[in-house]
Amino acid sequence: QAKGDGRNCFKYFSEELTLAARERIKTEFHLRQALERGELSLFYQPQFRVTDGKIIGAEALIRWRTADGEMIPPLRFIPIAEETGLITVIGNWVIETTCSQGKEWLNAGLPPLRLAVNLSSKQFLHSDICEVIEKTLAKTGFPAHLLELELTESILMKREKEAIDILNRLHELGVHLAIDDFGTGYSSLAYLKSFPLDVLKIDKSFIEDIPRHSDDMEITATIIAMAKNLRMRVVAEGVESPEQMTFLQKHQCDLYQGYYSSPPLPAAEFAYFYAQHCTDKQA
Ligand code: C2E
Ligand code: MG
Ligand code: MG
Ligand code: MG
Repeated sequence: QAKGDGRNCFKYFSEELTLAARERIKTEFHLRQALERGELSLFYQPQFRVTDGKIIGAEALIRWRTADGEMIPPLRFIPIAEETGLITVIGNWVIETTCSQGKEWLNAGLPPLRLAVNLSSKQFLHSDICEVIEKTLAKTGFPAHLLELELTESILMKREKEAIDILNRLHELGVHLAIDDFGTGYSSLAYLKSFPLDVLKIDKSFIEDIPRHSDDMEITATIIAMAKNLRMRVVAEGVESPEQMTFLQKHQCDLYQGYYSSPPLPAAEFAYFYAQHCTDKQA
């Protein structure tokens, strides 16, 4: 009997593996196809200055709309792209698309604006990211100081020495470096000092519960104050309410992004929104 059970167990287990593997291969195939068919696009979410509401930059966020119109959120396909190694192709596409778009907007006469791109850990540690950035800037003509790269704490924690090395080389190119989702990992603010970072983005999970949770308010105020001590620009993510805005003004957060002022927008809509905004601010 025991023998039979074992065999069933094994059979079940191996079928599970096959299923998972098959699922991954299928998604990888669809993702590749999505790239070729132009189903991937970038949305841009404006970043506003807290003091006067002026747009200072935008974050590029990937979107996948399948042929039948379904929108697949990045958190459902970026991890698979990481596992299969496709992230390098997709990541390079994101960098190049952002830089060409930025250059186009400059050529069209829009006032300069910093564009931020999210990097995944594989892309950061396992590809020659410095070379990719350098070549893409040269190819598109987008100025380095207008490009910002967003990294997460986990990327930096993974291989500390290697990460510092890469960050220093990126800095030499003139791009800005941001730490994304700050507060969700394990790194301390003191630890941050060892990395050449320009921008700190407070994770939206802290902003979300302002002003309901006093803990989150204290954490946010502390992060803002310490980031300022480290001479980093602070950005609050996921700002949705006037109460949150009042809080950020009071604690002198530098920038914010969130549905309160604008969701991520398709490129053309973003350009329109930004142009409109610049005219308003001038008047
Ligand atoms: P993230 O970089 O932290 O991006 C912020 C996320 O918050 C975005 O989700 C954005 O749409 C969402 N958001 C913006 N304002 C608000 C708000 O007021 N309230 C709430 N609740 N959410 C808001 P999205 O676009 O679904 O992206 C999710 C994550 O996927 C990103 O988190 C980033 O980690 C990853 N991602 C997106 N695009 C790329 C990409 O091109 N490459 C890589 N490697 N990762 C990407
Ligand atoms: Mg981000
Ligand atoms: Mg974030
Ligand atoms: Mg987050």
